[in-house]
Amino acid sequence: MTAPGSAVPAVEVRDLWVRLGGAPILAGVDLTVAPGEWVTVIGPNGAGKSTLLRVVGGLLPPSGEVRLHGTPIDRLRRRDRARVVATVAQSPVVPPGMAVLDYVLLGRTPFIPALGRESAADLAVVHDVLDRLDLAGFAGRELATLSGGERQRVFLARALAQGATLLLLDEPTSALDIGHQQEVLELVDQLRADAGLTVLATMHDLSVAGEYADRLVLLAGGKVVAAGKPREVLTEELLATHYRARVRVVDGEHGPIVVPVRR
Ligand code: ADP
Ligand code: MG
Repeated sequence: MTAPGSAVPAVEVRDLWVRLGGAPILAGVDLTVAPGEWVTVIGPNGAGKSTLLRVVGGLLPPSGEVRLHGTPIDRLRRRDRARVVATVAQSPVVPPGMAVLDYVLLGRTPFIPALGRESAADLAVVHDVLDRLDLAGFAGRELATLSGGERQRVFLARALAQGATLLLLDEPTSALDIGHQQEVLELVDQLRADAGLTVLATMHDLSVAGEYADRLVLLAGGKVVAAGKPREVLTEELLATHYRARVRVVDGEHGPIVVPVRR
């Protein structure tokens, strides 16, 4: 039961276990994301961040409880799940020869009947998203010819065209220079404010992760080892323990700044 006045979480994960092959990759993970919240999962390579996002996005079957807006994820059919959650993968496949418009239209696939064609409404959604992300001029361009930053905006456009309110972003800015990083993250934050999106992301740049997220979750060895406000998670001790990194953490305008220090 939910207490009166408290919203049902957009994402609720309880005691999630994932085993692929031998050892567990996620071992008893708990995670809650409130509607409209931005939560970023950080953690060293191989911690299980992408695996966690794949489960929440319905791309891997859960063992444990995973609810999206209160409904167990395995009870959502593909189309219903597509209305709730959209994923931008860590390195999305770029289909050779595909134009930007057709790629963004793939976001409508769950709503197009088998053997059917996209409707005028599907196309209207796609054009609206292209406009919003400043991509209208690229509609006819081959996706493979776009720069990294432009391409990342197109990946985002495909996810938004799906119309889901929960956006899963797996390292959305890893391939981008610092300017394009900020551009993409500001855009996501603006969409979050304008369209009421909920964001669950993973990110390697810890200072940037802390600047944009309401809360951080530190995953290491398949377990949540810390969670809370950026200044509670981005501490020299926690980063030394779980990343084996020597860093200084200083106060920044929008949260802690993590500076690597040479040994
Ligand atoms: P992260 O995104 O935090 O770097 P991943 O979730 O991609 O971590 O992977 C976590 C661990 O699970 C890694 O050790 C990885 O090798 C392993 N792993 C991921 N996918 C598979 C798979 N399909 N089969 C076996 N092991 C996998
Ligand atoms: Mg990953």
